[in-house]
Amino acid sequence: MKAAGKVFLVGAGPGDVELLTLKAVRALESADIILIDDLVNREVLQFAKRDAKVIEVGKRGGCRSTPQAFIEKLLVKLAKDGERVVRLKGGDPFVFGRGGEEMLALREAGIDYEIVPGITAGIGALSAVEIPVTHRNASHGVSFITGHLRDGSMPDWRALAQSGTTLVVYMGVRNISGIVSGLLQGGLAPDTPAAAVQSGTLPTQRSVVSTLEHLERDIASAGIASPAVLVFGNVVNLARAIVVTEAEAEALRNVA
Ligand code: SAH
Repeated sequence: MKAAGKVFLVGAGPGDVELLTLKAVRALESADIILIDDLVNREVLQFAKRDAKVIEVGKRGGCRSTPQAFIEKLLVKLAKDGERVVRLKGGDPFVFGRGGEEMLALREAGIDYEIVPGITAGIGALSAVEIPVTHRNASHGVSFITGHLRDGSMPDWRALAQSGTTLVVYMGVRNISGIVSGLLQGGLAPDTPAAAVQSGTLPTQRSVVSTLEHLERDIASAGIASPAVLVFGNVVNLARAIVVTEAEAEALRNVA
């Protein structure tokens, strides 16, 4: 019988391969099979063995995707077959990554596993435009929020608006108008500094700095789309973003 397998739930960071951890690289180097999400930069596969099998399990919003239950069963089966499996996720596996569900499935099945954390987009993409998530006198903390809840419900925008923390919203671009109106109704000042960063740390990175009341318009004119994080709070004043103004965006559209 083959030796028992093992599953590594690995965070690949926000995009730039240089932001992988050494543990992530070592796990990749030793993997027989790699299950990869579509947000993960394919350049990370340079660390995989030549004969490693790569399975794409994309689930980009709205498109056909591999059902989560199937992924969990597959991880358990492969490990039982004795394979060393790397399950690669964008950012950190435990931040809006369903890593917790996969860990529980492995734990329940008695599979050996290890969690390899990664730099989450809410930190990595913000550093790419020089926005610290906390800053003395500017923010008492940081809240990571999803702008996309499966049942269509919304986070408690009022509580978040009153929290005094930097608000970092994942998966929020498509629902930007709901998020902005929720925060305005919740009492966040219309001139609160706000920004959006798309594909942070990658060569395709785009960003825009704005205010709560103008973010929707500015995101649209800058052509910012998913995957992007939104950030609200005074820390945005520290940004050194490549600001795409309306005029620049227009010029870009004319070139395209
Ligand atoms: N586990 C991931 C998040 C997965 S949810 C993490 O820890 O980062 C997917 C969302 O992450 C995207 O919709 C977007 O909001 C954000 N995201 C992932 N990579 C990003 C990047 N390079 N730049 C900006 N946002 C990103």
